[in-house]
Amino acid sequence: MIVAEIKPFEEIKNMIKNYQKVLIVGCGSCVTVCLTGGERQVELLASALRMARKIEGNDITVGELTIRRQCDPEFIEQIKDEAAQYDVILSMACGAGVQGIAERFKDIPVLPAMNTMFLGVSDGQGTWVEVCAACGDCILWKTGGICPVARCAKGLVNGPCGGSQGGLCEVSKDVPCAWQLIYARLVRLNLQHFLKDISQQKKQPVRPRRLVREDLRLKKEPTKGV
Ligand code: SF4
Ligand code: SF4
Repeated sequence: MIVAEIKPFEEIKNMIKNYQKVLIVGCGSCVTVCLTGGERQVELLASALRMARKIEGNDITVGELTIRRQCDPEFIEQIKDEAAQYDVILSMACGAGVQGIAERFKDIPVLPAMNTMFLGVSDGQGTWVEVCAACGDCILWKTGGICPVARCAKGLVNGPCGGSQGGLCEVSKDVPCAWQLIYARLVRLNLQHFLKDISQQKKQPVRPRRLVREDLRLKKEPTKGV
């Protein structure tokens, strides 16, 4: 999932300081799972902003909404009537969600309440760890299911740097060396021959990337070009 954290409260307060009617929109997917941008967090942020502005003697109207996904126009459309009643939208989604909303409501400023961090998995209570850098050319089949792009501190895809000590990365002493993990996993699976096949070449994506599935498109009309 996409892991994001809420911005410092002062930064959010500063972003909306010139607005009187703020609609906070939460996202019911990844950021709900990592407990940063779902319905409950919308409620908490709305209360905190109301309180802070009241103390300043500059009252504010704060609306609260959470939609299923902010990266999907179908769900964004559901808030069009509500959105029209506000000066600004404060999005509690990842950067994709913020831009999804901004693309739909071109006459309303859309501000990010979150910092988007990485693609990760849960690593225990309240902890998430980056495991994929969305490189677009997955090599996990050769690396024992462990991603060197995201998990090696240097992003090396052609083997270890040689600085690992005791199985730990030379850059971050509290983090296991990704290549040590890859080696151990491949040996365990009796697939160590893949180590000979590690290439220095990896396709470099041309950005912004776009995925078009013709089999899912009913009409062959041009895409919207977001
Ligand atoms: S190689 Fe790593 S960064 Fe690339 S798609 Fe696979 S898991 Fe993600
Ligand atoms: S020690 Fe391992 S994880 Fe750290 S930079 Fe070198 S190869 Fe990458």
